[in-house]
Amino acid sequence: MAVRETGVSYYGLSYVEHARADFEEMLRHNCNAVLLALSEFDIDFWMPNIKAVAQLAKEMGLTVYLDTWGVGKWFGGEPPSLFLTNNVGNRQVSAMTGEPLPAACFNSEAFRQYYFEICEKLARDVDADGFFWDEPHYALPKGYASITGGAGDDWACRCAFCQRMFQEQFGYEMPRQLTMEVKRFRHDRALDILEEATRRIKRIRPQTKVICCVHATLGTYYVTENRGYDNWDKVGRSAACDVFSTTILSYQLPKSFFRSITQRTLDIAQKYGKGAQRWLMGYYQEPEDLSEINRAVHLYADMGVESLFAWTYRGGHGTVLAAPRALEVWDTLGKAYGEVLVR
Ligand SMILES: [Zn+2]
Repeated sequence: MAVRETGVSYYGLSYVEHARADFEEMLRHNCNAVLLALSEFDIDFWMPNIKAVAQLAKEMGLTVYLDTWGVGKWFGGEPPSLFLTNNVGNRQVSAMTGEPLPAACFNSEAFRQYYFEICEKLARDVDADGFFWDEPHYALPKGYASITGGAGDDWACRCAFCQRMFQEQFGYEMPRQLTMEVKRFRHDRALDILEEATRRIKRIRPQTKVICCVHATLGTYYVTENRGYDNWDKVGRSAACDVFSTTILSYQLPKSFFRSITQRTLDIAQKYGKGAQRWLMGYYQEPEDLSEINRAVHLYADMGVESLFAWTYRGGHGTVLAAPRALEVWDTLGKAYGEVLVR
């Protein structure tokens, strides 16, 4: 398998004529795809220009994906959530303390309807090629262990909706411990909303390609993480996943980790007949030696990944999460893309 797709995420888009210049720069950096990272505010406020910007990207030859970025704080990302601002309830709840958390419970009917409406609106009105499920996860209440990097004891969600659903399914009160049944319940519910959203999107736009991007975790036998999407087999075979994708890695991690995560990504994709995508870190942390970026791109290409994406356009230049040498990172990435992309 050769690299057929190279792209970056793009946010803060507002004006078509400015987007044109940015897309031209992406094409010069050997990108043939763009991921429009859309916050709840963008979708609520900028919809006419989202349509126009997506259309322009297509006209310029880019494949366009829509990322429901940070929605409900269920997906990864920095944007705030309008749902949480406008809604005092329907939040995830800590299992240990019973306190509400700053994340929407995606099992609550209110949030599900809200999210399905967003997806249907985007599918109906925006001529894009696909949707991107961006690091979906249950809220992670901080415990001592999680502060030091490992999994904490606390987890979410044990709200009234989740408790009721669990009781109906298993016939007893939802435990505060992550028992086998609780884990299964959480995994199944985590995928249920994405599968329903995928069904609704494909009813409107059947050719839509859905990319499901999960955290690149070790996921070992002894330590399972609490996000709810760490059972890659379940994610890979889900109808909410046409392309199995795994997140960026810090360049400080050992090279063997880059290889093993990529191999596991490819294995899951192949096992379930899905596409494979790997993400590269192109913001915030940069490697001391920028040629590490080139080496990562070539490693993924050599291993057979067909879609490469980086977060984000211009190395995050101008944001607090910019790489120290943001524009050099972007140029290095663009050059590496040009070496591996099969046109
Ligand atoms: Zn809940």
